[in-house]
Amino acid sequence: MAGAKAAFLDRDGVINRDKGYVFRKEEFEFIDGVFEACRVLESLDYKIIIATNQSGIGRGYYTEDDFQALNDWMLGVFAENQVNITAVYYCPYHPQFGLGRYRQDSPYRKPGPQMLLDAAAEYRLDLRASFIVGDKLSDYEAGRAAGVSRCYLIGDGIELPSDLAHIKVYPDLLGLVRQEFDSTVIGV
Ligand SMILES: [Mg+2]
Repeated sequence: MAGAKAAFLDRDGVINRDKGYVFRKEEFEFIDGVFEACRVLESLDYKIIIATNQSGIGRGYYTEDDFQALNDWMLGVFAENQVNITAVYYCPYHPQFGLGRYRQDSPYRKPGPQMLLDAAAEYRLDLRASFIVGDKLSDYEAGRAAGVSRCYLIGDGIELPSDLAHIKVYPDLLGLVRQEFDSTVIGV
C-alpha cells in the first residue's frame, strides 16, 4: 500500500515572519496566503507537517513550555482557518550554543533528517511523494537527506551556490502552491 504524502513546512520564514527566536504570539505574524495555501494542499491529500529548529530553547531564550503554548495557539488559529496540521516536530538542541543537555549535535536539527524520518514512520509517509518547504539551505538539505523528492525555498534574496542554482525559490508559500500544484483547485 502506498504511503500518505506530506507537505513538510518549516515554521519561521514559511508560516510566520522570521523575526528571530519568536516565542510570543504577539510576535507571531502569519505570512499572507498561508491558510489558503494549506487548504489547497489538504484538498490534494497532503498531510501538513511542521518541522522546525528551535534552538532558542536550547540557548535559554525561552522554554519548551513557552514553545508549546505558542504552538497550541498557532494550531488554534490554523483550525479557525479550516486547516488541520497533522503534527509539529521541533528540535531544541544546538551543537555549540545549547545550554546543559541542550548542547548536542542532534540528527533532529536540520540539516539532519530525523524529524522527517520520525514523521514518516509515525504517519506511514511516502517520502518520495512528499515535499519540503523552507527558507534556508538547511531545510533543503534535511529534505534531501530524508529522501524527499521535491525541496523548495521561500524568500527573496537567497543566494544559492552555483551547484544548487536549480532549487526553486518562491516569494511565499501561496505563490509556490499556485505555481507547482494543480491550478484547478485554486479558490478552495
Ligand atoms: Mg526558517
